[in-house]
Amino acid sequence: MSYVGPDFDPPQPRRSRRRTLTVAIAALVPGALLGWVMYQAVGGPGNKGGSGNAAVRPSSATPSDTAPTISATNDDKPPGPTPTAESTTASGPLKGKVVVIDPGHNPNNFQHTAEINRKVNIGTNWKECDTTGTSTNDGYSEAEFTLDVAHRMRTLLEKQGATVEFTQDGDRPWGPCVDERARIGNKAGADAVVSIHADGAGTGQRGFHVILPGKVNEGAADTGPIVTPSRDLGERIAGSFVRVTGSAPSNYVGSGTGLVTREDLGGLNLSTVPKVFIECGNMRDSKDAALLTSGAWRQKAAQGISEGIVSFLRG
Ligand SMILES: [Zn+2]
Repeated sequence: MSYVGPDFDPPQPRRSRRRTLTVAIAALVPGALLGWVMYQAVGGPGNKGGSGNAAVRPSSATPSDTAPTISATNDDKPPGPTPTAESTTASGPLKGKVVVIDPGHNPNNFQHTAEINRKVNIGTNWKECDTTGTSTNDGYSEAEFTLDVAHRMRTLLEKQGATVEFTQDGDRPWGPCVDERARIGNKAGADAVVSIHADGAGTGQRGFHVILPGKVNEGAADTGPIVTPSRDLGERIAGSFVRVTGSAPSNYVGSGTGLVTREDLGGLNLSTVPKVFIECGNMRDSKDAALLTSGAWRQKAAQGISEGIVSFLRG
C-alpha cells in the first residue's frame, strides 16, 4: 500500500523557477552556508508578509547571545528514561510553558487495522482514525522514527524548563486517533504542539517540509484563531531545521519554502492551540533514508525542531 503524507492526498508537486534557482545556487555553495543561502534564495527578508508560502525564516540569521541555542551533547545515545514529575518544576526560559509532542502513528498500529481504519470526524469530513505510517526500504518504520525524535526533543525542551507531554509513547496498542491527538494538545492548554512525521514519497523526492493549518471553519473545526500563530511557529521551525540539520526544504512540495498549508488533516483542523506537522524527510529516498536512520542526524533534527519551538515561545 502506498502511503503519502501524514494522512492522504498531499498537495500535488509543483515546479517553479524559484525552486530551480534555489537548487542551482545551492549547488555552488558549501554545506555550512547552504541553510542561509537557501533562506535567501527562497525569499529572504524582502519577502515577508506575503500571503502565500512565506519564506523560511531562520530563528536567527547569525549566532548571537540572544538566539535560543540548545546544546546537544549526546549525539547518538538512545533516548533516556521517562522523566519524573520533578522535571516539570525545572527552571529555565520555558518555565511554565507547555509543549505537546505528537509522535506520528504508533509502532503497534499495523496489528490493529480495524481500529485505526475506523472513521472519525475532523470537522470538514470523515477520515481514518490513524494510519500505519511509512518505512524505509530496509524496514525502519516511521513510527519508530517519530518516537525517537520525540524523546530527543523532550530531553532538550525539558532542559529549557518546558513541561512536555506526548500524545502517545508507543505504550498503547494503537493510535490515538487523529481527533484525540488534537484534543490532547487542546486539553493540555499547550503553548505549542508539533506532530512529528517522515514522508513516504518517490525516489529522488527529498527534503523536509512543515505543514501549517489552513483556515477551516466547519463542524468542530475552527482554525481561525490558530492560523497565524501556527504559521509563526512553523516558519521558525523550518528556519532552525535548515540551520541545524543542513537539510534543504522539500524539492517536491512547497515550492522550495519548506512550508505547505493543508486543510485536510484532522490533527490540525481540530486543534485550538498553535500546531504544525513536520515531515522530516522522505523515508523512500535512499539519501534521505540514510539521514533518517542515523541517530546523530535525528539528534540534529530534534534540536532543529526544538530550537524553533523555543524561538516561538520566547517571542
Ligand atoms: Zn506520518
